[in-house]
Amino acid sequence: MTENKKLLLLPGDGIGPEVMAEVRRVITWLEQNRELAFDVEEDLVGGCCYDAHGVAVTDATIEKAKAADAVILGAVGGPKWDGVAYAARPEAGLLRLRKDLELFANLRPAICFDALVDASSLKSELVSGLDIMIVRELTGGIYFGEPRGITDLPNGERRGVNTNVYDTHEIVRLVRVGFELAKKRRGKVTSSEKSNVMESGLLWREETMKVHAEEYPEIEFENMLADACAMQLVRRPKQFDVIVTDNLFGDMLSDEAAMLTGSLGMLPSASLGAKGADGRQAGLYEPVHGSAPDIAGQELANPIATILSFAMALRYSFDRGGEADLIEKAVEAVLDGGLRTADIMQDGMTKVSTSVMGDAIVKQMDKLAN
Ligand code: NAD
Repeated sequence: MTENKKLLLLPGDGIGPEVMAEVRRVITWLEQNRELAFDVEEDLVGGCCYDAHGVAVTDATIEKAKAADAVILGAVGGPKWDGVAYAARPEAGLLRLRKDLELFANLRPAICFDALVDASSLKSELVSGLDIMIVRELTGGIYFGEPRGITDLPNGERRGVNTNVYDTHEIVRLVRVGFELAKKRRGKVTSSEKSNVMESGLLWREETMKVHAEEYPEIEFENMLADACAMQLVRRPKQFDVIVTDNLFGDMLSDEAAMLTGSLGMLPSASLGAKGADGRQAGLYEPVHGSAPDIAGQELANPIATILSFAMALRYSFDRGGEADLIEKAVEAVLDGGLRTADIMQDGMTKVSTSVMGDAIVKQMDKLAN
């Protein structure tokens, strides 16, 4: 008998609990219809955890997250906690989870569903069928490098300093994630940096080329300066398959790519750690959007980003690509059928609530599977 998969659900604040409720329905369907059994635990993170325990995440929850095969997070934050001390603010819970689970690789797919092609800021022929994956380094680089800070200068001015620093192992482990993904996709990796003006970028380029030549010669590979990459993403986005890049450029390029696909309510993400000797790999899956306090509690939230994040967990933490495909196909079919939550509403379509959208996706899974 195989062991049950351990899933930790952290719904969080605002619309988090609403969209997570729809993920639960997908989990129940899989348990009833596939040979899959999950041990599901739920816990607090963010503002709701602060209200209960005075911190944004407890040590006990961190331990549960480390023991889980995958963590699915809703969203954290909201105006209610604006006055909370910096170290206890809701986002601190998320940052601690990322740090303590050593999640160094952030995967942000940008997929354009045909039914939503008109929501993109680009012409439909440029984004129709778009499916790219940005792999961003998440725990190093300029957001963490030392020295950093703001100092007073003798001449009365002030100086702000940040340091972009990467060691070989940080680059190598990140780009390996990208090459491994490319093997299962269309077999192409683009590495993006600024090696023309930054030594950290030059090291990134040299180490990435080495990993390619020694470990993945069968993968098509190119280097592209980050500014050129930003331009090509809006000029001809379908030329890309997997883009590997550092923390700073990844932050920008992944947001740029996200907008090619239309709505925030549609975008999933995954953050992965290193594979341990036992083959286990930490994985945190969450929608790109925040807690949307403006629409919380009104059944207006789009649950698709969180459901697609769970699909990524099935693919990357549980090696169940078939079930991930099924969920993605169900989402596509529901959109093709004309159902829309308010955020992606278009003329002539049918506006539905959070739970009606979740229900339609599960029903569609049932239809596609039988
Ligand atoms: P947001 O993503 O919560 O909302 C931006 C806009 O998009 C809002 O109008 C919102 O209604 C809409 N929206 C977002 N997700 C939606 C969905 N699933 N369905 C329909 N509409 C959706 O960003 P914000 O308003 O800048 O931030 C709100 C709170 O969320 C803040 O406290 C912020 O710190 C927090 N936040 C958390 C995360 C996270 O948990 N990872 C990420 C971003 C922001």
